[in-house]
Amino acid sequence: MQNKTIFIKTFGCQMNEYDSNRIYDSVSKLGFIKTNNQSSADCYILNTCHIRDKAKEKVYHEIGRIKKLFRNKKKPIMVVAGCVAQAENEEMVKREPFIDIVLGPQSYHKVNDLLKKHIENLKQEETEFDTISKFGYFDQIKNNNNKISAFLTIQEGCDKFCSFCVVPFTRGPEYSRPFKKILLEAEQLIQNGVKEITLLGQNVNAYSYKENSKEYRISDLINSLNQYSELERIRYTTSHPRDMTDDLIDCYSLSHKLMPFVHLPIQSGSNRILELMNRKHTVEDFFKVYERLKKINKEIEFSSDFIIGYPGETKRDFEETFKLIKKIKFINSFSFIFSPRPGTKASKLEMIDKNIAKERLILIQDELFKNQVEINKSMENTNISVLVENKLEKQNKLFGRNKYISPVIFDGSVNQVGKTVKVKIQTSNQNTLFGFVNKNMKAA
Ligand code: SF4
Repeated sequence: MQNKTIFIKTFGCQMNEYDSNRIYDSVSKLGFIKTNNQSSADCYILNTCHIRDKAKEKVYHEIGRIKKLFRNKKKPIMVVAGCVAQAENEEMVKREPFIDIVLGPQSYHKVNDLLKKHIENLKQEETEFDTISKFGYFDQIKNNNNKISAFLTIQEGCDKFCSFCVVPFTRGPEYSRPFKKILLEAEQLIQNGVKEITLLGQNVNAYSYKENSKEYRISDLINSLNQYSELERIRYTTSHPRDMTDDLIDCYSLSHKLMPFVHLPIQSGSNRILELMNRKHTVEDFFKVYERLKKINKEIEFSSDFIIGYPGETKRDFEETFKLIKKIKFINSFSFIFSPRPGTKASKLEMIDKNIAKERLILIQDELFKNQVEINKSMENTNISVLVENKLEKQNKLFGRNKYISPVIFDGSVNQVGKTVKVKIQTSNQNTLFGFVNKNMKAA
């Protein structure tokens, strides 16, 4: 096949971002070359997310927009991938003939075959759950990601079935990749120049791979990654409070590369609501993890996810959530009003009054944002370690992140990309820190 261009648009989580990179690693073997010009691409891949409200309609809306881009031009091969593709499967091709290929997340290893068949004029839909074959296929293809900070999927799917969540339906049951294959992929990334690896999974700390009667856990991966001298930082996301086991907690004292930042979704501060959500942990369990980690290193900071206005949430339940965020000063967090996802248990429950839910969300966000502003303010006039990721395109500034993953924009020189430097913070807002490289200070 002659070289053709491909445009990949990614929605949603880090795992989708990782998947899009791996899809590109695969299709580049067919001669496809990435383009930034979406209106001239020979192939257009839309990697979709099912987490947000009205996800399906947003995808059709997006396709309507793409159709307009190609109105008087040759139509691209239109591929819809990701969780909406998984949920909707062949319905998508029926409803929107502009779509040529529907590709569920467990079928990405088939992308090259599907593209070849399409060129032979066949409509394709692949939404089987075949995670083992998928990772088996991608294990044979080098990961070419050469960004300073890269994602590495170690686990996919979920067996926990929280009442509100579509993941068990769109990504299937929990699957953990073979330990050694993950390390091989990590080595490729490090050889490419990657300095920070974020281990990914929908239930990343449930990672469990058994070989020769030994069970490998996420702690084994962290301890192994810690040995690579060129790798500077290790992170992982998203974790579940129930899987914060002792071996993982111990990593915070054993690994100096594991960043002191834990994203640990709790969803609600009320045990009654947690039970209705089928979360399988209590507020007390969460506090135990929090206190143990703080004891190991008081610099460890937390972020979390909150669903406000879950069906049945009373004023008292909400007050308990509010009390929780007063107690734990989360460094940043995601908070949303509950919205039902088709096919989930919670989608059949009676919603609480919309206006009440909105009022509660405002109260929660005011408090969360106040914490964020205060924490960022406390860093002003201090020198912090920043891993420099890139130069900002339109500004003569560098971009990087501190240990808590907060974005930092600062003056420095382009040869500092890929290095950890000390940045003197001058100002800040809710989300970002601003400053300059302090040449008088050695990077930590
Ligand atoms: S543990 Fe996470 S991924 Fe699994 S069902 Fe619950 S919210 Fe969804």
